[in-house]
Amino acid sequence: MADIYLDNNATTAVHPRVRERMSEVLDMGPLNPSSSHRQGRTARSLLESARADAAALVGCSPSQLYFTSGATEANHRVLELLRRGPLHGYSLVTSAVEHASILEAAQVLAREGVRVTILPVDSDGRVSTEAAADAIRGPDTLISLQWANNETGVVQPVREISSIAHERGALMHCDGVQAAGKTPVNLEAVPIDFFVFSSHKINGPQGAAALVARIPGTLPPSLPGGGQERGLRPGTENLPAIAGFGLACAIRAEQLLLWTSNVAALRDDFESRLNSSGVVCSINGARVQRLCNTSNIQFCSVDGEALLLRLQAAGVACSQGSACNAHKPEPSFVLRAMGLSEDEAWGSLRFSLSAANTRTEIAEAVELITFLHEQLSSAALPRAV
Ligand code: PMP
Repeated sequence: MADIYLDNNATTAVHPRVRERMSEVLDMGPLNPSSSHRQGRTARSLLESARADAAALVGCSPSQLYFTSGATEANHRVLELLRRGPLHGYSLVTSAVEHASILEAAQVLAREGVRVTILPVDSDGRVSTEAAADAIRGPDTLISLQWANNETGVVQPVREISSIAHERGALMHCDGVQAAGKTPVNLEAVPIDFFVFSSHKINGPQGAAALVARIPGTLPPSLPGGGQERGLRPGTENLPAIAGFGLACAIRAEQLLLWTSNVAALRDDFESRLNSSGVVCSINGARVQRLCNTSNIQFCSVDGEALLLRLQAAGVACSQGSACNAHKPEPSFVLRAMGLSEDEAWGSLRFSLSAANTRTEIAEAVELITFLHEQLSSAALPRAV
């Protein structure tokens, strides 16, 4: 069986047109956007056209968008504002299911004396709007909430919570890494102050991401140094990656409706085949709005890790939780926060699809899951009573 890649929330294949654009940029010779000669002006125009394309994908102004090396850096830049800079003295409200780049930074802030509230999620993986409203006590608050979860695809009530934050004069940061390019995001229509998204989740290269900062003057420079990115992110820009990111955004923006409906159809096909396969399983987060590409499946009565390893050995790439936590010998904290037991969390696997997957791949993957699940269930020792 040929390899079947169902781990697109970890990273995606670079789109062939993006690869072509990146090698064109590399072949153009020396390109530094800060130089004033002809090559420098060419570089500047490539940089600004990538900025316009990235901004268009999420509905912000190009002047509000800064390129960074990744979403991890961009998320940190925002949370850093509470340590030094204009948000010093603010409290932080975030959720129990954020990406490690938020939760680990929140832990550091808490150790340094910042008041941090971690909102729980319900059994569907959603933060309650009321709990968020209670936690936003005053204007000196930054709330950091992801748009959609990387493990379950569950979409958070970001619109409602950002409106509450703004009514109270508080600020809102949104990790939109899994949402941008997979669901419509229009920052014009949502009062989010800081928004982050990443190139490699939407068929762009790794090493490029965007931070949208909508309030002028809130971001101090990240490092002392050159004046790149309007002084806010010194260092010569990674132009080939940024140009690739810009094109990936433009391609996805143009195809968003088609992309989401194709991927949703594949995902529905995956789930309905699994449902009728006889495999005893359930979908984590099934009752609420999820990203169109993500199925987090809880397999009953088998060892999830054994199933994962056998699937991987047979060429089906999927994962147990997020790639960023794969080295941790603990069950998924996201699923644990949703109330799953340790065994249930270990028994859950994430399948994240893309438009490059085919119906045949989906059918083959489900056939293999069914076969391996049966094999593992019959090998399982009866529980001691
Ligand atoms: N936030 C979320 C929700 C993610 O899924 C990821 C990537 N796994 C990140 C942030 C970090 O993105 P990057 O790899 O660009 O640093």
